Amino acid sequence: MKITKLLVANRGEIAVRIIRAASELGIKTVQVYSAADANSLAVEMADEAVEIGPASAAKSYLDIDAVMKAAKDTKADGIHPGYGFLAENADFADAVEAAGIAFVGPTGDMIRSMGDKASARKAAEDAGVPTVPGSDGVIDDMEVAKVLATSIGFPVMIKATAGGGGRGIRVAENAEEFASLAPQASAEAKSTFGDGGLYLEKLIDGARHIEVQILGDGENFVHCYERECSLQRRRQKVWEEAPSSALSDQVREKLCSSAVALAKAVGYRGAGTVEYLYDDKSGEFYFIEMNTRIQVEHPVTEAIVGIDLLAEMIKIASGEPLSVSQGDIVVRGHAIEVRINAEDPANNFMPFPGIVGDMRVPGGPGVRFDHMLYQGYQIPPFYDSLLGKLIVHADTREAAINRLKRAATELRLDGLKTTTPLFLALAEDPAVQAGDVHTKWLEPWLEINSDKLASKGDD
Ligand code: ADP
Ligand code: ADP
Ligand code: MG
Repeated sequence: MKITKLLVANRGEIAVRIIRAASELGIKTVQVYSAADANSLAVEMADEAVEIGPASAAKSYLDIDAVMKAAKDTKADGIHPGYGFLAENADFADAVEAAGIAFVGPTGDMIRSMGDKASARKAAEDAGVPTVPGSDGVIDDMEVAKVLATSIGFPVMIKATAGGGGRGIRVAENAEEFASLAPQASAEAKSTFGDGGLYLEKLIDGARHIEVQILGDGENFVHCYERECSLQRRRQKVWEEAPSSALSDQVREKLCSSAVALAKAVGYRGAGTVEYLYDDKSGEFYFIEMNTRIQVEHPVTEAIVGIDLLAEMIKIASGEPLSVSQGDIVVRGHAIEVRINAEDPANNFMPFPGIVGDMRVPGGPGVRFDHMLYQGYQIPPFYDSLLGKLIVHADTREAAINRLKRAATELRLDGLKTTTPLFLALAEDPAVQAGDVHTKWLEPWLEINSDKLASKGDD
């Protein structure tokens, strides 16, 4: 069923990105919004806009009935969920399809099997993809889990099956900590994700985060190579790049084919990301989770392989077969994305929702800035702090870092504190320049380098 009118069930920069992709495909758009987002760029850009509730996400962007009503009232025949909010909600995907509307993503059942992190581990094992040593499925009995944790070897990670965005994770150094942290993690997961289920994983120390972009139409499956997202704060990515500078061609081939094997095993439909930890000392990689949606950092892949992933997703949901085969997908150059958040890096990343004053958007060769801003825009304090993503692409990694410095210097957002100074400082760091980082590298660096994080010039 060809999509002719697409409802965007999200907000911020990704809503803008979806509207752009739809518009280039000749598809009309409907933007749903909360009362706090009435003045958003996405509302301004979409063909139609429908208010679906108050600022609270629970009563707007997460309200399935409100979104479905807007879709029916506007006769939308497709819904794109973006990331976060309802993007990995299987009941939402089912409700959309039951209403005869195309869901731009996998089926509810695929989300059920891959979105629950414990069952996804099982699916990965069944497909022959290596996983981190840990529990088989969800922990039901704390005493059994304690014995298992001891046999895996401390430290262990206690993870929420429904977790996401770096939340719902605890590290236990020993059995006593395990006994006190596991109930806490369960309670947090219950209140954040509505599901208190936990599982265990061995802590892989000093590993890199490397993930593989895949696309499937239910019958054909390809990968679009990897992204490395090792620079993280509180287990959230802040700087992502493609390709990874840590992989040999041989490991790259094994890693990417394992992601395709998993996609094939579940008959995957849509865009997805298979996330791994990679230990560059042993050369081993371990599956950690699959995200059954578009990811924040998708533009670095678009840059190196020249594929519009959003357009591809919409076409798959319209029933078209994949437009690319594996042999067509060739990597060119190196891309880096940094997350421009409304946060003050000099003040422990305190959120800084303000009014955008004069702004200057970077441009020139190899520069892309996906954002939700305009002059005079008041950033609502109710949602996450991502304002935009600065993406650079160049022939080599070194040239991409130089381009990042140039573009980040051009970016001016008067009236706000943003994470831009962090990226200027990171781009000057010898370890970052050498690509010698891992998921626990950034946090201690931030402690030592706090003096480099104050914004220069106008505040
Ligand atoms: P990415 O790898 O695309 O960066 P993240 O895991 O950081 O993915 O999540 C992207 C966005 O989705 C963030 O805004 C995050 O807070 C949100 N998110 C991810 N998982 C969940 C979830 N299970 N429930 C609610 N929000 C989520
Ligand atoms: P989320 O759903 O929140 O994205 P992930 O399972 O993808 O959760 O893990 C987020 C981050 O937490 C990883 O990128 C990594 O930095 C860290 N992490 C997760 N599992 C492990 C592990 N077993 N050992 C070490 N670090 C881990
Ligand atoms: Mg993850």
